Amino acid sequence: MEVAIHSHSGGLFKNLVCGFLYLHRSCFHHGRSKRLLFSRLFPPMNLHGDKEIGVGRSGELTCKSQRLMLQAGLIQPANTGCFHYMPYTVRAMEKLVQLIDEEMKLIGGQKVNMPTLTSANLWKISERWDLLGKELFRLKDRHNIDYCLSPTHEEAVTELVAMQGNLSYKQLPLMLYQVTRKFRDEPKPRFGLLRGREFYMKDMYTFDISEKAAKETYKLVSGAYGRVFDRLGLRFVKVQADPGSIGGNLSHEFQLPAEIGEDRLLMCSDCHFAANAETMKTVETNCPQCEGKLIENRGIEVGHTFYLGTKYSQVFGALHSNSENKPILSEMGCFGLGITRILAAGIEVLSTETDIRWPRLVAPYQICVISPKKGSKEEVCMDLLESLYDNLMDTVPQLQGEVVLDDRSHLTVGRRLKDANRLGYPYVIIAGRRILEDPAIFEVNSQNNGRTLFLTQEGVLDFLKNIQMA
Ligand code: ATP
Ligand code: MG
Repeated sequence: MEVAIHSHSGGLFKNLVCGFLYLHRSCFHHGRSKRLLFSRLFPPMNLHGDKEIGVGRSGELTCKSQRLMLQAGLIQPANTGCFHYMPYTVRAMEKLVQLIDEEMKLIGGQKVNMPTLTSANLWKISERWDLLGKELFRLKDRHNIDYCLSPTHEEAVTELVAMQGNLSYKQLPLMLYQVTRKFRDEPKPRFGLLRGREFYMKDMYTFDISEKAAKETYKLVSGAYGRVFDRLGLRFVKVQADPGSIGGNLSHEFQLPAEIGEDRLLMCSDCHFAANAETMKTVETNCPQCEGKLIENRGIEVGHTFYLGTKYSQVFGALHSNSENKPILSEMGCFGLGITRILAAGIEVLSTETDIRWPRLVAPYQICVISPKKGSKEEVCMDLLESLYDNLMDTVPQLQGEVVLDDRSHLTVGRRLKDANRLGYPYVIIAGRRILEDPAIFEVNSQNNGRTLFLTQEGVLDFLKNIQMA
């Protein structure tokens, strides 16, 4: 009897699956190509309209990127300083990580993934168990042994390298990096993804043969970080920074100038000098290098680089053998990029008060095609628009999976255009009045320069074939 029920329910399950697949194919992957229908994307009908949101609980401070991301349904608050990242955000994040991976490959970085849960012993060796105080999320396992959720990984990576035994100088520089969640019990989590208690960081750790080599590697990695921001189209300032609790004596921050930034930057009007104000012991108005006038700006720290020396290699015994086969301590560097902070900071500095602009290369989808409204004159051109959509997806390889069809035909095109701007597609295509001409003319709005192009189907394809995806 049991067997019979079992096999019967198996059959039912199979039927359900087949039914689902059939539905899935007929609705979602309708027609010749896979159509990405806006009405099917999560969160459903995902815009909150003009409803007042974004003013956090109990007067929590908010900022433009937080407000825009909440309004567009890109993030959903879970608890203080913790968010659900919705599908659009995850796509942007994956693109950002891929771009960073490309730059890391070019300089010889190797990707690893270290545990988040790390034991107190590890942190006691470096004496940071006490030093980090309340910032550490501490917990105990069933055997009453202390752990924490890692806020950074200098200890873990140095122990990992030390455990491999002596490296040969021929294997250096060794550049290990990862993209993982970090946990910090921040005193003031705020501004959405800009300052969370749980966030993604890309952190790289380098091991070198000498101080000189480590400083070369420091330049190499800093250069790659600069290229990441250049490719994103984000103007940054690299400032001298305070090494803080991480240690070492050479440190820089990558800062995006922005009014809501929590860092005060001092930049010389005459030379290249730029520093975080917290590195200055006294209130300076003149440049320490050329006596020029110092100008103050606020910035969002998006990256931080440190030359660490042997601070960690010493306590964990990370050694390598030199050309005379003698073991010597590795010279280290560490380099952090705030993945989720970069997404929010990019939105903060690029967006208008109402419309999100992503750094184009990481925009979740490159294009939104808006179908004509039901009952409008343009409705007769629905097929034209759909065939343009299918053609884009089929004939332009780099647009595979990058084009959303806003099929909510019960809404006006204007209303959907507003939604599209709020989500920040770099390009929006609509069937305006001129779709009724012969040949049909489509409207292509380019978000980045606010220009509208009027193009035939061929014209649209030619134009979009040429957009850079890297
Ligand atoms: P801050 O001074 O803003 O707290 P930090 O100096 O503590 O930053 P690092 O330890 O250098 O930060 O971490 C490397 C990078 O991780 C930072 O440059 C930043 O981009 C990101 N980051 C740090 N803290 C957070 C956070 N709470 N939320 C999101 N990103 C963060
Ligand atoms: Mg901090």
